[in-house]
Amino acid sequence: MAAVRNILKHCRFETAKSTRTCDVSDSHVIASGSRHFAYEEVPGQRKNICMACAPAVLAAVQEHLTSLVDQL
Ligand SMILES: [Zn+2]
Repeated sequence: MAAVRNILKHCRFETAKSTRTCDVSDSHVIASGSRHFAYEEVPGQRKNICMACAPAVLAAVQEHLTSLVDQL
């Protein structure tokens, strides 16, 4: 059997190399050096999510994955 490919490996926590704006809310600032969630909706186009918004984003992802698994 071929190795299973993790298609969500681009989703990860990172440390901001410079100040960033949260992609959920323009009023949320991700300070340089702080931890945040990141993913690429389109390869090469990073989305940065602050730690205040990350739990809701990950909960939505989890719900979606659960729904997909339920359809197996
Ligand atoms: Zn945010």
